[in-house]
Amino acid sequence: MMKALTYIEPGVIQWHSVAKPTIKKSTDVIGKVLATTICGSDLHILKGDVPETTALAAKDKKKGIILGHEAIVKIDSVGKSISKFNVGDVCIVSCITACGECYYCKKNLQSHCNGNEGTSGWILGHEIDGTQAEYLRVPFGDTSLFKVPENIPFEKLLMLSDAIPTSYEIGVLSGGVKEGDSVAIVGLGPVGLSALLSAKTLKPKQIIAIDLDDSRLELAKTLGATHTINSGAIKGTALSNQVLHITKDLIPGREPGVDVAIECVGIPQTFELCEDLITPGGAIANVGVHGKSVELKLQDLWIKNCQITTGLVSAFSTPELLNKVSDGSLDPSPIITHHFKFDEFEKAYDIFKNAATTKAMKVVLTPN
Ligand SMILES: [Zn+2]
Ligand SMILES: [Zn+2]
Repeated sequence: MMKALTYIEPGVIQWHSVAKPTIKKSTDVIGKVLATTICGSDLHILKGDVPETTALAAKDKKKGIILGHEAIVKIDSVGKSISKFNVGDVCIVSCITACGECYYCKKNLQSHCNGNEGTSGWILGHEIDGTQAEYLRVPFGDTSLFKVPENIPFEKLLMLSDAIPTSYEIGVLSGGVKEGDSVAIVGLGPVGLSALLSAKTLKPKQIIAIDLDDSRLELAKTLGATHTINSGAIKGTALSNQVLHITKDLIPGREPGVDVAIECVGIPQTFELCEDLITPGGAIANVGVHGKSVELKLQDLWIKNCQITTGLVSAFSTPELLNKVSDGSLDPSPIITHHFKFDEFEKAYDIFKNAATTKAMKVVLTPN
């Protein structure tokens, strides 16, 4: 047996004893979890907003389904077909489980992997048991794990499970951030701050950080934002005008506005703000997960020759991000605000859920 954090039904989680996972397929890896964290999507599940996970939990009310899709593990056992890893290796568990062979995996769209045990690449803590446990079964270990280099503290690399690749692939790379650009980041939660850290590695000239919370804005400033704007203090056209003002003299002859606006909130107001911020030829890279439709101002946007991109992370960039952490150009540790032991899991959820008052970004949980 082992201990795990399971989702029983909307509003109910439990840290309790469940069966320890075993190898089911030759491509499986079993890992001892050295560190894990909680994500905004775990909170969505907990609220009952992810019906497929609620349905799975309902099938076994006593156990529930183990939440979590981010972890660092030490490999405990490997299936017969595993060729890249050995028992004892310390690895990052990607939030996306990739078979490596299906149509989508070959296209670097592992988010849509259909050779998997679920309906997409996101199966851990969603369609099968996840990472918030003492032990974890990782399907397709060879293509879903990344070895931790010996000289890097593994806690930093926990952020490479999800937050950093999500913001890098869906924000920075999809938006096409490049050297000398002006970039706006709207929303400075863990993903917005990750977007800032990963965008910085591509050397944009301006990073304009926008959020309602002064302490987040201050943190953004220490992490490399060139400008910060409190969107509670300045609203509507005054807010977009301030961004246009900041960007107006970037390059002679260039229209004001940012090259890339990265949306990291997922509500209509923040997406619509991004629509007002971009310069001709610019891009809106939407990272936030929206629950409602937004107003698409095509009547204004078409003449800007702009792009709008969105998506679910595929985690194809993890090796590149590992290199950036190795060479020191990317340090994900400032996103980590709280540490807990596994038996404090329920408390960690409370702290993470109440981020507005607790100032929590990412919480790290390690074994007792
Ligand atoms: Zn996540
Ligand atoms: Zn696949």
